[in-house]
Amino acid sequence: SVRAAVVTVGEELLSGATVDANAAWLGRALGALGVPVERSWTVGDRDDAIAESVLAAARVAELVIVTGGLGPTEDDRTRPALARALGAELDEDPALVRHLEGRLRASGRSALSDGLRRLALRPTPGRWLANPAGAAPGLVFEGPREGGWVIALPGVPREMRGLFPAVADFVRETFDGRLTPVLQRTLHTTGLPESELAPRVDAVAAEVGEGVEVAFLPDLTGVDLRLTTRHDGTAAARAAAEERLDRLDHALRPILAGHRFEASSGDLVETVAALLEARGWWLATAESCTGGLVAQRWTARAGSSSTFRGAVVAYHNDVKERLLDVPRAVLEAQGAVSEPVARAMAEGVARRLDAQCGIGITGVAGPGGGSEEKPVGTVWIAATVPSNGAAPCTRAGRFQFGGDRESVRVRAAQAALHLLHG
Ligand code: ATP
Ligand code: MG
Repeated sequence: SVRAAVVTVGEELLSGATVDANAAWLGRALGALGVPVERSWTVGDRDDAIAESVLAAARVAELVIVTGGLGPTEDDRTRPALARALGAELDEDPALVRHLEGRLRASGRSALSDGLRRLALRPTPGRWLANPAGAAPGLVFEGPREGGWVIALPGVPREMRGLFPAVADFVRETFDGRLTPVLQRTLHTTGLPESELAPRVDAVAAEVGEGVEVAFLPDLTGVDLRLTTRHDGTAAARAAAEERLDRLDHALRPILAGHRFEASSGDLVETVAALLEARGWWLATAESCTGGLVAQRWTARAGSSSTFRGAVVAYHNDVKERLLDVPRAVLEAQGAVSEPVARAMAEGVARRLDAQCGIGITGVAGPGGGSEEKPVGTVWIAATVPSNGAAPCTRAGRFQFGGDRESVRVRAAQAALHLLHG
């Protein structure tokens, strides 16, 4: 199968002034096209650095994509560097001159400046691809290895992406029958640490995951599992690849039960809001240590007005007592970070704000305020939901989250949504 290598050119990428968006974008686009990226290089605007990395790239991959340094100024070095790497002449292409003049006329200007004329220079032999979003064309050459190709694209991400359909056409035509498009599926999970999840998933994958790679992508709200498989582009191979994903996906169900959620955005709020919406339930939230994070996340989604009643950030005990009816005696006897307080907050806010569902969160976000009994990261969370006709049912849990203040807050908000989801 054919592999790609990427060379991104620009001093600003090395200094960190600009984040290399092109390499990431090309990694996805080329992978989807069926030419996985094998390796990538980032180099400054220097002929020798560009030429050396293109030669190195051509040693590991049949297709080399270079971005950047194609502009009209003296510091754009990709053209001469490519001529050097390919041992080619740098000639003015008359067809390209006419193309550039045509573009100028279309925008009401006339003469081609010396700078712009430089855009018509390209190593020969080779061909060029018109740029729908700017002046600098894409350049295509055979070499430097037998059967290999180098394609140079402008650095401006919008222009690079605009040229990609032409690149894709060229690649499909050139490497016909040798492409291996990827098929991916992402399974979202929450509430299980990667260290517990990974061994269970790996055990299942070892049995039924033939031909499927599993990647674990953890963040503060959970772990995404990315299932990846490849096929050769034919309809039958694609269907077989889908089946491989289905088989593993299905086999993973039991071990992910209670932790997996479906959301196109990857946000658990999407899932829980859809559940409430379907049942015609309203949510109200009472948050202490998370300071309104659940409310913020919930209302960040369009359409939240049909499920969200409102929120109380009940930080001080007086507020828990006055606005949520948490009994003073309980606050004093058990402390604010306790099961009865979390329950009273969830039930109190639901009652006060006329919602069927309520969330209560009270904890120690740190870095100070921890004790032996309730160390930093201790959070009590309660979720109230209607229980078929009878009195509402409130679930509560004690959590011990790791990490700094921000981590504890983000994890607590996610755990509250998970508890509400049930
Ligand atoms: P131009 O015709 O604009 O000169 P060019 O092909 O010479 O295009 P560069 O000069 O290298 O491209 O970059 C133009 C702009 O695009 C700069 O603002 C640069 O920061 C940005 N850019 C270039 N390469 C990348 C990249 N890999 N990721 C994100 N931005 C990039
Ligand atoms: Mg430039």
